[in-house]
Amino acid sequence: MRLVLVGPPGAGKGTQAQFIAEHLQVPKISTGDIFRANVSEGTALGVAAKAFMDRGDLVPDDVTVDMVRDRLVQDDALGGFLLDGFPRTVPQAQTLDDVLRDSADAALDVVLELVVDDDEVIRRLSGRRTCRTCNHIWHVDFDPPEVEGVCDRDRGELYQREDDKAETVANRLSVYAEQTSPLVSFYAERGLLVGIDATGPVDDITARALGALRPFAAARTGE
Ligand SMILES: [Zn+2]
Repeated sequence: MRLVLVGPPGAGKGTQAQFIAEHLQVPKISTGDIFRANVSEGTALGVAAKAFMDRGDLVPDDVTVDMVRDRLVQDDALGGFLLDGFPRTVPQAQTLDDVLRDSADAALDVVLELVVDDDEVIRRLSGRRTCRTCNHIWHVDFDPPEVEGVCDRDRGELYQREDDKAETVANRLSVYAEQTSPLVSFYAERGLLVGIDATGPVDDITARALGALRPFAAARTGE
């Protein structure tokens, strides 16, 4: 199954992507992972991408597209995948169509949208605190450490990532509304979109997602 996951920052896409990909037995391909690899290796692409991400802005299309194209033509992705973080814009979606057609004579099967409102996103993200030592993420309300500002695992100092500051979150949400929401219309018009409520316990959201995807998986089996 070729699946794209969309939703605002803070919708829990990373977590759901992992569970859904495991269940469907396809590789999870996240632009976040691809970006981080480039940033930590200090590639020119990574340095450019980081400057945009730190401001809460989107990485320019040409940078992103090159990285994703390379990943999608690797062997493990030819039979199916779950894409998280791409496409984010309509032009990227059109590019994805071209890449799939050219590399695998294939098309997307379904786009799953995680729906969460802005207030909930701000509450989730601005409460996050990351450990400088092990990078574990705590949350001041949902998963607080025993001692404020200190990691339970290794006593590392906790800090608020640039991405998680309230001002940056607000910027990311307006960027999302402006540039990514048209994607939802684009895919809805093609009959590829299915939306689920992404609030509540993680397991419930996964169950909802798998239930929503079942008809699309069945359609593929029947091919
Ligand atoms: Zn730690």
